[in-house]
Amino acid sequence: MTTPRELYDLQIIDHRIDGIETERHRVAQRLAAGVNRPDLTDEAERHSARALAIADNVQSRRDEAERLRERLTGLEARLYNSNTSRRDLSAIQREVDSTRYQIGQMDEMILEQEEEQRNHEEAAVSARTEMQDAETQWQDAETQLNTRLTELASEREEVESQRQSLAASLPSDDLQRYERLRRNKGGTAIALVDNGRVCVSCRMTLTTNVMRQLRNKTRQVLCSACGRILYQP
Ligand SMILES: [Zn+2]
Repeated sequence: MTTPRELYDLQIIDHRIDGIETERHRVAQRLAAGVNRPDLTDEAERHSARALAIADNVQSRRDEAERLRERLTGLEARLYNSNTSRRDLSAIQREVDSTRYQIGQMDEMILEQEEEQRNHEEAAVSARTEMQDAETQWQDAETQLNTRLTELASEREEVESQRQSLAASLPSDDLQRYERLRRNKGGTAIALVDNGRVCVSCRMTLTTNVMRQLRNKTRQVLCSACGRILYQP
């Protein structure tokens, strides 16, 4: 006759195996799900393209500003040339003022566009960095998950061999009954009885009669509420 104690020891091993399997499943799922990387390739390319287009624009405005400066130099030369007639002077002066104003406008626009260009360049870099970081993190995680899988496989092997040696010592009828109960009772065939005379699995308070039966440690007494084999340590 198998004692509840022996079956309880077997169940502890089975619960360990269940725990290992649950974790193995979780780890395998996580590995199968793969990298959780935001795809920011398009975003990075859009920012890079925009930065390039602005850089082009900035270059042509610089060329334009350069032409205006040359023109200004010419105008100023005429302004300070003593041969220039008094009549022309005021027209030239107006042109000098207008050219200076245009140069000022152009320089301001260049500064604004340069800033916009920098913003797009930075956005492109940060999108690429974010993807790279996620990739690196995933590679670390993947290594850890694979290590854990290997550990779990060897734990499983060890616990499995403990189970085999314990199971080999039990009569096969009792073993089959235990396994059937475990299948039907959510993985727990043997229920502990606590000091308050309560079946820990279903919280039922046991009768005095049941408690008396349990004093015989070799006897398999069932909980009348949940049907599990009771074990009082
Ligand atoms: Zn019960």
